Amino acid sequence: MVFTCKACGAALKESDISFDTGIAICEHCQAVMSFAEDLNVSSAQDFPSLVKAKVGRPEDVDIEDTPLRLRLSRRWYHPGLFFLLFFCIAWNAFLIGWYTMGSQMGEDGVIGLIMFIFPTGHVAVGVSLAYGVIAGFLNRTTVEVSASELSIRHGPIPWKGNQRLAASDISQIYCKASKAAVRREAAAVLQPTLYAKLKDDRRIKLLSKMGELETLRYLEQRLEERLGINDRSVPGEYTS
Ligand SMILES: [Zn+2]
Repeated sequence: MVFTCKACGAALKESDISFDTGIAICEHCQAVMSFAEDLNVSSAQDFPSLVKAKVGRPEDVDIEDTPLRLRLSRRWYHPGLFFLLFFCIAWNAFLIGWYTMGSQMGEDGVIGLIMFIFPTGHVAVGVSLAYGVIAGFLNRTTVEVSASELSIRHGPIPWKGNQRLAASDISQIYCKASKAAVRREAAAVLQPTLYAKLKDDRRIKLLSKMGELETLRYLEQRLEERLGINDRSVPGEYTS
């Protein structure tokens, strides 16, 4: 059986595929994909342990599934934010202390100016850190598929990376591993990115930092299901 990368169409080597999990990482474009179903169907005798075709819903993903739309969302919150919050408070308290001290010393010409200018880089860090921590506590990412559109929103605190794509333009949804992860062959631990491949061959980054590979693969499956995209790799489909 020949396996081809569903993102770039390259033929996968045997060493690119883990026959325990059915997960493959393409050497050429770092796409991560699962052939669990294909392996299951075609080589059930050779790999009897391979039964896990579908990825289950990760606990932290909320779902609203109605005939009109599929909406998947996940909070950004994680316990590590408390450490960042503590760090952020300490950092900004120091700066407030610095400026209080500076203003009490009076505008002493050059020294006053240096007192004021010296920590402006630190102020920028303090402000963006505070912004990130607040967003971390409040924000969620919502992925929504309707009959006509795939949208990705981060909020309520404004954040970059919102997307709207016409459903009819999308030809594939796939996960991509980082190059470092490909070298270490550690698909399970990497921070993968979810991409959409459009019919005009453009590749649009949809989500990164959305948890483990399993979370993104779950999203990939549900989105493809809803968009009516066949996830099976079809040998020769993307040969270039
Ligand atoms: Zn590829």
